Formats: sequence, structure tokens, C-alpha cells
Amino acid sequence: MSATPHAAPDTPSAADTARALGAADAFASGPGHALGTLDAAVAAFARDVVVPGAPLWERERRIGREAIEAAAALGLCRIEVPAAHGGLGLPFSAKARIAQALAGADFGFAFSLINTGNIATKLAREASPELVERWVPALMAGRAIGCTALTEPGAGSDFAAIATRATRVAGGWRIDGEKAWITNAAEADVAVVYVQTEPGSGARGVAGFVVEAARAGFVRRPAFALSGQHAIGTGGFALDGYLATDAEMLQPPGRAFKSAMTSINGARTYVAAMCCGMLGEALRIAQAYGSERRTFGVPLADHQGWRWTIAEASAELAAAGLLVADAAARIDAGADAQLAAAQAKLVATRTAERQLPRLAQAMGAEGLRESYPFGRHMNGARVASFVDGSSEMLLERIAAVLRPR
Ligand SMILES: Cc1cc2nc3c(=O)[nH]c(=O)nc-3n(C[C@H](O)[C@H](O)[C@H](O)COP(=O)(O)OP(=O)(O)OC[C@H]3O[C@@H](n4cnc5c(N)ncnc54)[C@H](O)[C@@H]3O)c2cc1C
Repeated sequence: MSATPHAAPDTPSAADTARALGAADAFASGPGHALGTLDAAVAAFARDVVVPGAPLWERERRIGREAIEAAAALGLCRIEVPAAHGGLGLPFSAKARIAQALAGADFGFAFSLINTGNIATKLAREASPELVERWVPALMAGRAIGCTALTEPGAGSDFAAIATRATRVAGGWRIDGEKAWITNAAEADVAVVYVQTEPGSGARGVAGFVVEAARAGFVRRPAFALSGQHAIGTGGFALDGYLATDAEMLQPPGRAFKSAMTSINGARTYVAAMCCGMLGEALRIAQAYGSERRTFGVPLADHQGWRWTIAEASAELAAAGLLVADAAARIDAGADAQLAAAQAKLVATRTAERQLPRLAQAMGAEGLRESYPFGRHMNGARVASFVDGSSEMLLERIAAVLRPR
């Protein structure tokens, strides 16, 4: 059997794709277009651009920069940016749905893209007019890459223990420290960086700064060589006497830690959605394969033991999907989403980690081909179990919310 790109069974014509993309442009530029139009464009983009690109980005160990720009042309770096700043002004749930669809093609690409969009949204909502003008149009166009930097070589789960230090100097702040394990750091042009302003004060002294990669004092580290998911552009940077103005303090001490923790509910929810996206695509491929591949004279799906794998994955995917939908609805409504987001991510990552290897097994050797996403998706689910709160930190959050006061 020949290698098959994983979207092959219903590959559309180029004209179908162009129509969908054109429809998305119209959606992005004017009111009155149904959200379903954008969803169709995202599905076509995932199938035609991300599916064929993902093995290449993995082989070349790089961000899918060309596809980020193409996605930006569809509006995918400005999903939540307010319309007043040229964004689509869509609710959080739209972003989660788009992240889910893109992750079905490649988790790493989707994660990199969403992280740049997050910076566009954060700056549009919170930065000074000068910073908005300087960065938001470039981020929305995919010309600039953004990242959010909390983690350090010595502090991951314990965010309040970060040691990157901001010290008051005339006219602003001097920042010194090191950030590691940062999505997009391999190429980022602008970062929202969390620092400590008052050593020993923990969460209370944490502040958030807008940091520019081209400025003196920003020292980029080489991209991390990992076991996979290189389209995430994971890396780090040092800040060595980096000077930031007062206006570049995006979130002051007292507000920054809380703001980061609120944003993380969204991140947990879209990462959970992305796990559903990966699992959903793996399920679709395995199902299609099971009706085509024959063993012992019948299609695989005619063997009861084989089809139970499909049934179990579909049942667990449906359950995870309901948790994601609940968390996304809470975020859209501005309600407290701590518990729902933590539960959704815990369940969705564990479901993906459990079911993806089973579906890969159901494909036989064929599933090992790089044109299929099983290997990348299993690695994506591993990554999902750390980013925006490891599974253990999610358990801690759930337990803290549930504990009687
Ligand atoms: C590909 C990738 C991209 C990332 N992108 C970003 C990014 O964009 N920005 C950013 O700031 N960070 C990012 N991270 C970092 C991520 O947030 C951290 O990996 C995560 O917070 C866990 O920190 P750690 O890896 O340092 O683990 P550690 O904190 O060293 O913990 C090690 C292990 O022990 C467990 N553990 C720790 N404390 C406890 C405890 N009290 N009880 C029980 N178990 C515990 C953890 O859950 C983990 O399993 C990224 C990570 C990866 C892998």
C-alpha cells in the first residue's frame, strides 16, 4: 500500500480551497458572514497547507513560518483582537474551535500560531497606543512572531519562584535573567515577559513587560532540539541589562500574576480542544483505514476486537469534548473557568495520551509513515501535558477549588 497523506480520502480541488479561502477573507473584512464560513476556510487550510507542511517542518526542525503568514492572511492571528484594532473580535470559543481544527493537522503549528495571536490580542487590549501601533498590525499579519515567557531554567511549575529581575532605573527598568522552554522563542520578535520586581515577595512582586528581541540586552538562545514538535519553535533567551520604559510595563506588580493566571484558563481550554482535535483526526483516519484494509478475508472493521478500539476512542473523545465546550462557554460568558478549564485539560490530555497509541496500533505498520500524524500527535499530547500547567498542577488547582473553606 502506498503512502497516503492523511487527508487524502476527500481531497478537494484547488478551486474548492480557493473558494473557501476567499470566503474567509470576506468574513475577516466585513460583517454579516457566518462563522461557519471561517470554519470551512480553516478546515481547507489545515488540509491543504498544514497537513503537507507538518512533516517538512518536523524534518527541518523549524516553525512553519510560511504557513503562519498564510494563516494570518485568513485572519487567524487576530481572532480575538477587537474590531477597533482591525481584529475579527470573535469570542474565545471561536479561537478554541480553530485551534482544535488546526491541531488535527499539526499540534505544533497550531500552538505556535495561537501563541502569536495571543500576543496580538494582549497588546491590543492592554498596551499603550504607541506599542499597539508598533506591534499589533505586524503580529496580525504574521510578519512578527510573539511569545509569552514565564518559565525559566530554575522555575516551571512554581511560577511565583521566577528569578528574572526588574530593577528600577532612571526612566524605566533594567531587566536581567533567563527564560527557557518558551513557545516561538526561536524566532519571536516581541515577548510578554514576566519578571520579579521585589525579590522575596513571590506572586505579589511579579510584573509583565513587553520585550523586543531586536533591542540591546536581548540574547536569543539556539532553538531547543527535542524529541519532536519543532514547529512550536521552543527556545529561550537571556535578558542582560535589557532596558524597558515605564510604558512597556504591561502589567504592574499586584496585577500581573493574577492576569497571567486568568489567561491560563483560556490556554488550558484551547490546549484541551487541541487534544480533541488530534484525537478526532486520528480517529477519522483509523476509521477510514479500517473499512479499506482487509485481514483474514474481511475489512479490519469487521473484526470485533479491532472496532472496539474505535468505539472506545470515540466515546472518550465525546466526553472530553463536552468538558472543553463547558469551559469555553464559561470563558465566553466571563464566568469563573478555573475548575472547568483545569478539568477539561486534565481529561483531554490524558484521553489523547491513552487513545492515540491505541489508534496508531489499529493502523498496523502503515500508521508509522510520516505522512500520517500518529507519531507527531502522540508527541503533541506529551507536550500538551506540560504546557500551561502540567497534569499535576491541574490536579492541584482542581483540589484547591474543591476544598471546603
Ligand atoms: C514545548 C513546550 C512549550 C512551552 N511553552 C511555554 C511558553 O510559551 N511559555 C512559558 O512560560 N512556558 C512554556 N513551557 C513551559 C511549561 O509551562 C513548563 O514545562 C511547565 O510549567 C512545567 O514546568 P517544568 O517543565 O519546569 O517542570 P517542573 O516544574 O520542574 O516539574 C517537574 C515535574 O514534577 C511535577 N511537579 C512539580 N511540582 C509538583 C508538586 N508540587 N506536586 C506534584 N508534582 C509536581 C510537574 O508536574 C512535572 O511533571 C513550555 C513547555 C514545553 C515542553
